[in-house]
Amino acid sequence: MIESRILLLGDDSFRQLYWQLLPDGYVVINLPELKEEARPVLALLDLAWLQEQNVPQVLESLEGIPLLALLTDLTGFHLLNPFLSQLELRGVLVPPFVTPENCALVEQVLLRQRPDQAQLQADLARANRALNQRLQEINTIYTIGKSIVSTLDLEAVLSRVVTASVNLTQAEEGFILLYEEEILYLRAAKNMTAENVERFHKEVSDSVAWRVIRSGRPVMLHRKTKIATDYLASALLYVPLQGLDGSNVGVLAVINRTRDLAFTESQLFTLSSLADFASITLENVRLFEAMVTEQSRLRSILRHATEIVLITDEQNRLLLWSRTAADAFNIPATAQGVSLQDALNHADLIDLFANDAECVHAEIALADGQVFNAQLTTVPGVGRVAVMQDITHLKELDRLKSEFVSTVSHDLRTPLTTIQGYIELLNRVGPLTNVQEKFIDKALRSLTYITELITDLLDIGRIEAGYNLEMHNMWLDLLLEEVGEELLPQAVEADVTLSWETEPGLAVLGNRRRLRQVLENLLSNAIKYNRAGGWVRMQARSEGAHVIFSVVDNGFGIALGEQSRIFERFYRVCTPETDTIQGTGLGLAIVKSVIEKHKGRIWVDSALGKGSSFTFILPGAREAPREK
Ligand code: ADP
Repeated sequence: MIESRILLLGDDSFRQLYWQLLPDGYVVINLPELKEEARPVLALLDLAWLQEQNVPQVLESLEGIPLLALLTDLTGFHLLNPFLSQLELRGVLVPPFVTPENCALVEQVLLRQRPDQAQLQADLARANRALNQRLQEINTIYTIGKSIVSTLDLEAVLSRVVTASVNLTQAEEGFILLYEEEILYLRAAKNMTAENVERFHKEVSDSVAWRVIRSGRPVMLHRKTKIATDYLASALLYVPLQGLDGSNVGVLAVINRTRDLAFTESQLFTLSSLADFASITLENVRLFEAMVTEQSRLRSILRHATEIVLITDEQNRLLLWSRTAADAFNIPATAQGVSLQDALNHADLIDLFANDAECVHAEIALADGQVFNAQLTTVPGVGRVAVMQDITHLKELDRLKSEFVSTVSHDLRTPLTTIQGYIELLNRVGPLTNVQEKFIDKALRSLTYITELITDLLDIGRIEAGYNLEMHNMWLDLLLEEVGEELLPQAVEADVTLSWETEPGLAVLGNRRRLRQVLENLLSNAIKYNRAGGWVRMQARSEGAHVIFSVVDNGFGIALGEQSRIFERFYRVCTPETDTIQGTGLGLAIVKSVIEKHKGRIWVDSALGKGSSFTFILPGAREAPREK
């Protein structure tokens, strides 16, 4: 129907809210939908939406249409003021907008009962008064809101909320009841006698409060009502306090006892806002207490942990640590928030935290001989957690085992040399038959294998124990040349082309004998596990402060699943091609040990059937070697 159009001038949130002001049966339109032939019967204008630019367009569109202005704030009003005489202004609505009075006014205008000028003036004056009152209320609410975000003092906030509630509603008394474990008790009060405060702190029996708690809805009464244990009120306003999960945790109440003065809808609105602040503080305090409990529980778990645990923030400042950590690293109780570097005196542990990889492992030794296996993990958003297990006894076992192997190997070597000597002498004591020669040959090959095995075992023991591992700066061209020349006959015999190259002037800090051994083992493998006609290349190049070595071949290659295991002691890959090739399975274990003693790293890339590339990285020499 053409007559039933209502023009809404405001933004979308405004549409949602003031829809409720309108009676049923009207079509609501926006400015762009306005048509000359279908003029609306009423326009609702949100003054906050009005801006200097849209004033002319609004004035033009409003010509001849009865208008109700919504005074959300005073900003838009001065824009409209000069044009009041041109407008068909029927009334000004102030918050809260959706009230029975405002709905009646809208209906009245719709019925074309044009209020007279005097009525309009009175409306405006009333609106102004109401708005001033509202501003004062909002100011108080804002002040309380600001103060609660900065405090966890529940006592102070609740008493501030009750005082503000009483002042803003001009009530005689006010109080907050909290609901806990099926009882209601008084938590804060204003203008209540000390005797009642004392009495209600234990338990309050108040049927109106119970109604609010159970329904979650406010109650506003204007009649003699018996509240909190024989307490008589002539008017009351109760609003619920709601937790984050929507549960009702208490009641904020204002009452008039002697004065027969009712509370209003607008006061209900104010009280609800204040109740929200009280609820937020209650929730904050609850969360804070939960956090403190959780933290002290975590601390007590850490106190009793047998492992060493250290937790830092993202800047490596200490957050939490176990008692074992405090004992091991002498961490004082006051170290919370102190940077790790200042809190403890252990270079290896500080180095560990300086590494910013996601997960790092290291062995940490204490001055008293204890050794720990440390794992440092980054926890996003928290910081870093180091957990360390005591492996002192495992290290001791490992040392004993190595010592045992070394001793046995050493003691075996002498009789073996004697056996070898005598076998080699056999052909000098008389002519041997072909069969005897074949047997002697087999015995000698087995002896060579055992001797190699023992040499390797002894080597591993010595390398791990760090015997004779003095480091010197050395040129690499010479080293590569020596090893290449040494392995050339083996390559020629296997029909494998061997080549090597290095950048001029390259040097590393290392143990010459052991680095030679590393390159010999890698080259020897690359030749051994290769086909006739294949090739092997050895190379060294610099990268920053490091030197990268590689030994590449186009031999049998290693299956992916085996690649992580070939550095283990005695691990040999079994394939039909490699089955007949002799070896102890200790070569790469020695290589890895030596490189790690040089603070380097080794890794392999390989493809089965295509070849392998062994690469290792060592710190470069800090200064030029003195002699070649
Ligand atoms: P081994 O004495 O058996 O050579 P290593 O520890 O040197 O012992 O090597 C372990 C295993 O790794 C070898 O048995 C071999 O199967 C494999 N391997 C090592 N180097 C190569 C290579 N260049 N090509 C293919 N396989 C290799």
